[in-house]
Amino acid sequence: MMLPQEIIRHKRDGLTLSEEEIRYFANGIADDSITEGQIAAFGMAVYFNGMSSEEAADLTLAMRDTGDVLNWESENLDGPIIDKHSTGGVGDGVSLMLGPLLAACGGYVPMISGRGLGHTGGTLDKLDAIPGYQSTPDNTLFRKTVRDCGVAIIGQTGNLAPADKRFYATRDITATVESIPLITASILSKKLAAGLDCLVMDVKTGSGAFMPTHEDSRALAQSIADVATAAGVKTTALLTDMNQPLGSSAGNAIEVREAIDFLTGKHHNPRLKEVVFALCAELLKLGKLAEDKEKANKMLENALSSGKSAEVFGSMVHSLGGPADLIENPDSHLPTADFVKPVFAEASGYVTDMDTRELGMAVVQLGGGRRRSDDDIDPAVGLTEFIKIGESADQPLAVIHARSESDWQQAAGSIRAAVTIGDQAPESSPVIHEVITANS
Ligand code: URA
Repeated sequence: MMLPQEIIRHKRDGLTLSEEEIRYFANGIADDSITEGQIAAFGMAVYFNGMSSEEAADLTLAMRDTGDVLNWESENLDGPIIDKHSTGGVGDGVSLMLGPLLAACGGYVPMISGRGLGHTGGTLDKLDAIPGYQSTPDNTLFRKTVRDCGVAIIGQTGNLAPADKRFYATRDITATVESIPLITASILSKKLAAGLDCLVMDVKTGSGAFMPTHEDSRALAQSIADVATAAGVKTTALLTDMNQPLGSSAGNAIEVREAIDFLTGKHHNPRLKEVVFALCAELLKLGKLAEDKEKANKMLENALSSGKSAEVFGSMVHSLGGPADLIENPDSHLPTADFVKPVFAEASGYVTDMDTRELGMAVVQLGGGRRRSDDDIDPAVGLTEFIKIGESADQPLAVIHARSESDWQQAAGSIRAAVTIGDQAPESSPVIHEVITANS
């Protein structure tokens, strides 16, 4: 007979848990037969003693199986089911461009995304800035959109990995969030419930990243690549820079506009494009849609220049209830703020450093993110035209889109404090630090 306290004791004493023990524990979390105290003790035992890749893969699959798991076989799709997940950043609207690009290249992307967390933006909040967009459609509309458009970006349904929901809530209040196997299983249990063939993970590192150090970010990237691959989903992880915002803007409607400009060829931020293309190229290779990176990049350039990826984005938005002409007429649909003005540095010189977390918090202060989980957010506010590290501070640090002059003043102070100006431009640093494949 299995007993929760025996499973906790095994982990406390540094033993390796069997698949049966892990499944028993995950099921007990989901059906409430295991108490919060037991979950907390288990979390702390894993925090101190870790888990092998096999144990983390068993926990991932066991938590995944406590809820709905999508299966795409009955749709007879003519391409692989692929997706990306990111640990979250500032000015990181990658999903809005990556999903349509992959669909335009023959992939199918059922992307279940989240809301903003702390200083980071959330794909779902960005899409909710589009009038009429249903970010929580019923299953029939979700599947129809994936089938017809090749991509649907939606929010999490109630019954996706319920064990993770309860486990995460307990970890959050018992100082056990920062455990690499637990983060791995938490992220992957939800991602793998979408029934994927391949996944690419974007793990951020730097001042705006969720993991504080480069070593921790790297270890998380390796763990996710290993565990997802062991769980049967071909996965690569990229370690990418978050020492400055990724794109040119941060906000909700504002980032949708940047994505539309990117897809229609009006404007692209080169760092953002490099990350979008690198993540897409990994998935095109893993999904056997492209032989190598060069061929993948050609397909992606073609999807952009032919207008195909913009068309896919427009058809996804329309299929999910948004306007039919968003791509053609974004300004008639996306909300704008009343008070839009650039902020300048108080010193001259070059940008040497940025506190990206603080820049994300400036967007939250403007109303573009939440202070409490039940807050409403303002889709119109945010920051555009971010300066980059190494650029001369003669130009604006950013353009602030605020609701009022006093909100503008507060954000201007935060942005000036978050950007360091020095006499000399630093050497440029890469936006993609490393591509991490599974240790098989
Ligand atoms: N995001 C998740 O979904 N789970 C974690 O444990 C940490 C970040």
